[in-house]
Parts: sequence; structure tokens; C-alpha cells
Amino acid sequence: MRSHLYEADHDDFRASVRTFVEKEIAPFHAQWEKDSIVPREVWTAGGEQGFLGIDQEERYGGGGVRDFRYQAVLAEEMVRVGASGVGFGLHNDVVSPYLRDLATEEQKERWVPGFCSGELITAIAMTEPGTGSDLQGITTTARRDGDDYVLNGSKTFITNGINADLVVVVARTNPDAPASKGTSLLVVERGMAGFERGRNLEKVGLKAQDTAELFFTDVRVPAANVLGTVDRGFLHLMENLPQERLSIAIGAVAAVETVLAQTVEYVSSRTAFGRPVGSFQNSRFTLAELQTEATIARVFVDECIRQLDAGTLTAVDAAQAKWWCSDLQNRVADKCLQLHGGYGYMDEYPVSKAWRDARVQSIYGGTNEIMKEIIGRSMGL
Ligand SMILES: Cc1cc2nc3c(=O)[nH]c(=O)nc-3n(C[C@H](O)[C@H](O)[C@H](O)COP(=O)(O)OP(=O)(O)OC[C@H]3O[C@@H](n4cnc5c(N)ncnc54)[C@H](O)[C@@H]3O)c2cc1C
Repeated sequence: MRSHLYEADHDDFRASVRTFVEKEIAPFHAQWEKDSIVPREVWTAGGEQGFLGIDQEERYGGGGVRDFRYQAVLAEEMVRVGASGVGFGLHNDVVSPYLRDLATEEQKERWVPGFCSGELITAIAMTEPGTGSDLQGITTTARRDGDDYVLNGSKTFITNGINADLVVVVARTNPDAPASKGTSLLVVERGMAGFERGRNLEKVGLKAQDTAELFFTDVRVPAANVLGTVDRGFLHLMENLPQERLSIAIGAVAAVETVLAQTVEYVSSRTAFGRPVGSFQNSRFTLAELQTEATIARVFVDECIRQLDAGTLTAVDAAQAKWWCSDLQNRVADKCLQLHGGYGYMDEYPVSKAWRDARVQSIYGGTNEIMKEIIGRSMGL
């Protein structure tokens, strides 16, 4: 079944992204996995190509296009070469809407040009060592003092945490109110006194991605760095989480399609008992089932992208896309690894990396259990 989502302009964009990832990313990604980080020059190179801040206004150096299909193309092309460490998706799909929709003109002038050029790398810090799913339980505080907020607390598992120049930090600004009415978003900038990074965390997969601990000790964050409305941070998060979840689903479907294609190729050439492994009924049925599910996932996610662009994607739609597609990605990676036999367990075969990189998809962006809570609640349960 062909996808009817993309038009000629998206195909042209895809061609330029493909050239970029094949030249500037694919040959170096294995080294970045060893380094546990992607060099900053990749970000500025991506910025030069117009791959950062696609949805930001042109007068600030952005692409000036509110069409999530471009971001989906970027994500798909990254996934196809296994570029799981390059945090453009977090920057573009997750952080960008906060700046686009919540930043004042003064803030945009300060931050958006660097955001689009790749000179200012961003992160968003919600999760704390003591709480992830239950965001209401966050304990990081920001107390108003004159023209500043004094920020104290720590965050963990923060994507782009080492490279980030701007971190959108979720903190309690009114400790007496429930978190939903007393939390704000503060932009912490590289170099602010009292802002320190901890470990670049060692992980199962996403080896080139810098995922870090962040510590804040009496950091004086100017009130001018509050994003959106004071004490309404939760509302802002709720508005933006569906796009983050759809972005995870888009990556999942691209990963599913990629690993399936690689596996079909492998089982067609590998022989056992005098015939290609792919000709055994078990292999054919396994791949036939997964291919069917991949098609269903593609159709659903394409429709979610259309709905996002039309402003009608609901939190429940996004939760469904996130849990189902990331679950599928894990099943596909696991079954495809099995079809590779021992070679599937070897780092030299891309399916092993696809398997490792898949695992986190059902955890971050809200765990799949939390997604099912959202869906279940919408059913009155
Ligand atoms: C590689 C990576 C990158 C990440 N990037 C970021 C980032 O950039 N910014 C950021 O803020 N966070 C980030 N995270 C954090 C991520 O969002 C959290 O790990 C996730 O939300 C789960 O929180 P937790 O780890 O505290 O697990 P917990 O909340 O402790 O959950 C543990 C288990 O309990 C289950 N559980 C919890 N509550 C319920 C419930 N009500 N019903 C049923 N089951 C439940 C969970 O589903 C899970 O299985 C990242 C995590 C990883 C691993």
C-alpha cells in the first residue's frame, strides 16, 4: 500500500536529507557510538541545510513551515541509516513548539536564530531521579527572588543533556499548589552559575545519544527566561506531549520498515538445509504478519500526521500511536533478530543495533503503560 502523505516538495526535501545523512552522518555514527556523543559540528551542518527549526519563523532563521511532514521525513531518513544518536528529533519535534508558541518576541530574538543554526542545542528536563511517570511528584523548585527565580533540584535521563545550551526545566514555582497549578517552564542557559551536568549515562541502546543527569544549585534564572505562563507549566506540557508521542511513533514505523527490509534481504540469501532461510514457512509467515502490521502502523501514523497538521490530533490518538507503534517496533526487532540466527546477535549486523535502540521507545515520552492509562480514561474507565 503506497503512502499518500507526501507531495513533491517533501520528496525533494527527502532527497536533500538523504544526501546529508549519507555524507555527514552514516559514515561517522559508529565512532559517535563509541564516543557516546555526536559532535556539535553535525548540528551546525544540519542548521546550514535548514533541517533545524523547520516550523520557526523565517525572520528568526527558521523554515517558516508548519507542516509536520517535513519533520517526519527528517526522522525517517535518520532512522533508515541508524542515526539514533543525533538529537535533531528532540530539538525539532519536542522543544521547538515550546519556543514557537510560548516564547516572547524578546526570547525568540535571543534563542531562535541559534536554535535554527544549530549553535544552540536544546533539551527538555521533566524527569527526576525520584519521579518520571508521576510528573506531579517533581521536587525541583524555582523560588522567585527579585528579578530572578532561584532554581534547586536535579533531573535525569535528559536527552541532549551534555550538548544542550538551553534546557527547558520543569520546576515548581508554587510549592503550596498542586503541580498542575504551580509548575513553570524555565529556560536554563549553558554557563549559568550553579548549573552542572552529571554523568553522560551508559545505556542499552542509543549509544551515540548524550543522555545526562543535570544538577541545579541556587541557579539564578532571570524571570525573563520563563517560557509561557507562570504556574501553568503543566498545561503547556499537556499541549505539547501529543506531538512528542507522535514523533516517537513516526520513528518506530520507520524503524519497523527498515529492519523488515534488511531481514527480507538477509533471509533471502542465507541458506540452511539447502534452501534460503526465508523459504521456510515459519520465516514467511513471521515476515508476512509483521509486514501486515507495518502497513497498518504506517496508515495510522500517516493519518495522525495529517491530523496533527490540521490541529485535530488528540492526546488519546497520540497515545495510541505511541504505544502501539513502539510495541510493534520491539516485536519486529526481536523477531527479525531471531531470523538472523547468531549473526543477528553480532554488532556487525544492523538488526542488533535496531533491537537495542528499539527498547527505550516503549519507555520514554511517557511509558506505554501510561499511554494505556490515558486511553483507558478516555473510555470512562
Ligand atoms: C534514553 C532516555 C531518554 C530520555 N529522555 C528524556 C528527556 O529528554 N527528558 C525527560 O524529561 N525525560 C526523559 N526520559 C525519561 C523518561 O521519560 C522516563 O524514564 C519515563 O517517563 C518513565 O519514568 P521513570 O523512568 O521514572 O519510570 P517510573 O515512573 O518509575 O515507572 C516504572 C514502571 O512503573 C510503571 N508505572 C508507573 N506508573 C504507572 C501507572 N500509573 N500505571 C501502570 N504502570 C505504571 C511504568 O510504566 C514503568 O513500567 C528519558 C528516558 C530514557 C531512558
